[in-house]
Amino acid sequence: PNLPIPDNYFSSYEDLEIHRLMLEDEPRTSTYRKAILNNKEYFKDKVVMDVGCGTGILSIFCAQAGAKKVYAVEASNLANLAKEIIKENKYENIIEVIHSKVEDVLLPSNIKVDAIVSEWMGFYLLHEGMLDSVVFARDKFLKEDGEMFPQNAVIYVAPCSVPNLYEKWEEFHGVTMSTFSKHLRSDKSHKPEIMQIRSVDLLGEEVALNWINLRDCTVEELDSYCVQHVVGANKNGRYQGICIWFECIFPELSSEERVILNTGPIAEPTHWKQTVILLPDEQRVEEKEPIAFKLDMNRDGKNSRRYNLQLTLLDPEEIEHPVPCCCDMTKCIL
Ligand code: SAH
Repeated sequence: PNLPIPDNYFSSYEDLEIHRLMLEDEPRTSTYRKAILNNKEYFKDKVVMDVGCGTGILSIFCAQAGAKKVYAVEASNLANLAKEIIKENKYENIIEVIHSKVEDVLLPSNIKVDAIVSEWMGFYLLHEGMLDSVVFARDKFLKEDGEMFPQNAVIYVAPCSVPNLYEKWEEFHGVTMSTFSKHLRSDKSHKPEIMQIRSVDLLGEEVALNWINLRDCTVEELDSYCVQHVVGANKNGRYQGICIWFECIFPELSSEERVILNTGPIAEPTHWKQTVILLPDEQRVEEKEPIAFKLDMNRDGKNSRRYNLQLTLLDPEEIEHPVPCCCDMTKCIL
């Protein structure tokens, strides 16, 4: 909340293409719908806040689930469109659109809400830093025993190969382009790539970088994460990068099954795809060979909506006293 918010952040959400992309992201929209509509018993007569309502779709799901009041907060001018969409669905008596940053909202007679719903996730979960606003809203507006939709979020990391980026250069239209491929690797290692990784291209089991409990995490806790991982390669392959994705877990209330939004390679593709840190040099690995690395994710000092991702390759033999065995500390700013 006290962090400077870049001027164009909200206006970038006035582009309808962005909303089309999000709305048409089937796993995203249908998972939120399921998490809300599967819990009709819970939502009945509840007071809800939708942080960053965009087109208002999540607020409408809450009204459909029986909420008696929804505060749909939206900072960008999309708030005007949300009002029309809500009217089109005849929920204007239940959903109140508040055209404001959630940080500036005042609710009548300091009302507290039963639940907060929000779709705040960015690339590799934390890009955009919108979770800070959701945490602010929780601390200010959520009742003591209130529910968060989603309730938990986890970032996963696993080694991978990226054949669709590199394979073709070995023999390209009758020409060997491995020099090009080498330079491409080096160029790409400076900045994470947003791309879809196939599950067959994962070279080992994932490790959780963090576990964020939305009901009690603080903004400071979101500043810095680090994980060190040693994993045996699951096949012979080319270790070319580290694949990062996330999962969001919704509260289990009246429904029997836990609703999870998984953006990983094994799940149905989403608009977040995966974030990949590409290695400047590939390493051939054999099945069962240990792969060791360390990943640091630190919030950028100047722009709180950005993180620096730093990958350190470790010598598996020396994991007890980790030393970078490869001087390429790939510092990446997306
Ligand atoms: N809930 C919608 C839109 C999600 S995109 C949907 O699921 O389709 C996130 C939205 O949150 C954007 O429209 C953005 O403008 C808004 N937003 C981000 N930070 C906000 C803040 N601090 N206060 C109010 N709105 C915010």
